[in-house]
Amino acid sequence: MLVVGNWKMNTDLDGAVRLASDVVRETGGAASGVGVCPPTVWLDAVAERVRGSRVRLGAQNVHPAPEGAFTGETAPPMLAALGVDLVVVGHSERRQLFGETSAFVAEKVRAAMGAGLVPILCVGETLEERDAGDAEATVLAQLDASLDGVELASADRLVVAYEPVWAIGTGRTASPEQAQAVHAAVRARLAERFDGAGRGVALLYGGSVKPGNAADLFAQPDLDGALVGGASLDASDFAQIVAAA
Ligand code: PGA
Repeated sequence: MLVVGNWKMNTDLDGAVRLASDVVRETGGAASGVGVCPPTVWLDAVAERVRGSRVRLGAQNVHPAPEGAFTGETAPPMLAALGVDLVVVGHSERRQLFGETSAFVAEKVRAAMGAGLVPILCVGETLEERDAGDAEATVLAQLDASLDGVELASADRLVVAYEPVWAIGTGRTASPEQAQAVHAAVRARLAERFDGAGRGVALLYGGSVKPGNAADLFAQPDLDGALVGGASLDASDFAQIVAAA
């Protein structure tokens, strides 16, 4: 199991360092894997806090180019140099608010892997797509396009997060059965594509995961953890979700 906190564009410097220290302390005895994704500017400070602990450091975004004229962007080797090993790619906020296409996301996946980072590839349908009965087809199409040209050496080099757009930050969670159905379809598609390595890829659910709903979600056979937004900003809530995993 793996539980990763996506802090999004939240925390000030002191708050980020404190939250990281609290997460290290409160999740120290957990069986599940743990990761935190602070804002890019706090990665270095948080790296210092998580170093030597079992908490993995993640970034929220990355640019596919190794360097160059890309004002405001961060290259994969820059993240790796800070001790980052996870990186969220294709989050729906980036797809919707910043116009990222699956083709661009695939470039990011390939570049992140090339730099030794583990991409957490996010996919998910909108409410309209779900209501039209297209949830699974949408997610699988996004998955295929976002993995274009990707080769997978072993299962631990990739994580996929299923995040229904309608469940992110809304307090509305997919039911455990809804999440399981999509996860099973994603698992099958990854196995088809990457054989054994694909079958073993950790599949996280994301979208209003809280201490109160985590255990029911994690009881589903194809849920291997969670990508947690809002509840990851409270160390005690986050630790309770980790403990349920
Ligand atoms: P949420 O966010 O837990 O606040 O819904 C999840 C995410 O966007 O990763």
